[in-house]
Amino acid sequence: MKKSKIFILLPLIFSICSCTKQEPFMDYVLSWDGHSDILGVELTYSAAQKDSTVFIFGDPSFGGQNDIFTVIKNIGCVEPEVLNVDEVARRITVYHNGAKEHRLTYEIDGSLPADKPTISSQMELFRPVITKGVMTLVTKQFALNITDERNPLVSYVWRSYPEDVSYFNSVNPSQTDPSEKLSDHYDDAKISLFVMGDNISVEEYNVMGIPYYCVTTKEDRYSNDLQGSLSPFFESYFQSIHRFWNDTDFPFYFLSVTALQNNQKEIGGGGFGIKNGFVMKLGRAFGIREKYVTAHETAHSWIGIKIMLGEGSFDHQWFGEGFNDYTTIINLAHSKIFSEEAFMHYLNEENLKEHYESAIKGVHNDSIAANYWTDYANYGVLPYRRGLIYAFCLDNHIRLASNGKFTLRNMLLDLFEVRKTKTKDEILTVDDFINVGATYLDKKELAGQIERYMIAGQPIDFNTVKLSDEFQIEITNNIPKVSLTEGADLSNIYQW
Ligand SMILES: [Zn+2]
Repeated sequence: MKKSKIFILLPLIFSICSCTKQEPFMDYVLSWDGHSDILGVELTYSAAQKDSTVFIFGDPSFGGQNDIFTVIKNIGCVEPEVLNVDEVARRITVYHNGAKEHRLTYEIDGSLPADKPTISSQMELFRPVITKGVMTLVTKQFALNITDERNPLVSYVWRSYPEDVSYFNSVNPSQTDPSEKLSDHYDDAKISLFVMGDNISVEEYNVMGIPYYCVTTKEDRYSNDLQGSLSPFFESYFQSIHRFWNDTDFPFYFLSVTALQNNQKEIGGGGFGIKNGFVMKLGRAFGIREKYVTAHETAHSWIGIKIMLGEGSFDHQWFGEGFNDYTTIINLAHSKIFSEEAFMHYLNEENLKEHYESAIKGVHNDSIAANYWTDYANYGVLPYRRGLIYAFCLDNHIRLASNGKFTLRNMLLDLFEVRKTKTKDEILTVDDFINVGATYLDKKELAGQIERYMIAGQPIDFNTVKLSDEFQIEITNNIPKVSLTEGADLSNIYQW
């Protein structure tokens, strides 16, 4: 009884305290002229009763950018404050010397040297890009980390910026006037996106009541019409996948696809997910591979972000990547972005064939994390293929066992419901997966399949797999190949 009283009292005391004095803050004022390589930053911040404040710039783990400190320049403070900059540690220390107000100014140099062209997308993807007509930045590329993390209120406002240019920010995308102040919380502020420039286009869509934003470059050297290429996602794919999951619980979502600015020849693309969005940089024409990547990455809003098995994302990539990939391709088929031919090609040529030809197809699930980065070509792709192939089989098993009444989607929706009943700190386990599957399939058999095929890594023997009437299988030189039976149609198979 006593304990619970204390529990109730504490938050009350805290809220009284916070009313009496302003919370510590970090206010950023930004400037860019629309064509130069320089972003001007002015940071005012509170530092009550402190002799010094220590900031850290950059994050080498973000895309492996070890020399990120070279982009921050001309760091200055106002007397009597004194600076100490440790470039190796990326540390900026300000000694306050009794100053009551605290202001730090610096520049972010986003230039892309002509003599060092971008030869892989990561070179630009994880760096600030500030160049004529295009500025793309995430906060960790221009804002500072404060070592004691005691300044929870963060704000951004643009003081000077080019007139009549497109502007997007992922802090509050409905705020389109750069001169209005954006407020954020320190913990959320670490990775927000800012895009601006006269070669930038921002379109807003309404997808089932959720604001969706499409941010692209207008022109690039590949004659891409990125807004046109991406519009089918906003007109059908996102609707399809929201319906698949029966879920519209999102404040907003954005897709930012901009062309690489410093590549001289055709190179691929790269991307990373951030809160409520996906950022891609592209070095070639937007083709079928880019459609697939866009669909796969945005599908992670559910499997991968809202629904994850195990402690970390490496534990059960067969689910996090493979099952996500299955939801990706069936939604691409459902939304008609993938034709029947593209769907079958992906399933057969890029998954079944590649997997059954792989020399390491039978390795244990635990060996994936250990070899993922050193041998991505073999181990990196393994869980995607292994999981997708099993998801396809499982979907067929559930359809057969229920006479077509249920599909894998029903099982995934049940798993999503189990996730919602758990607290943030509780994890979704393989046992949860097996328990929801037991509604549709024999529990012991399902548990055995997971253990054999997903954990121990034994490849599924398609000689023993029974598929639903719409699919047939042919095995040549141990490579299974799936095709549709006469009269079968993907849009009938995958409907919700
Ligand atoms: Zn993925």
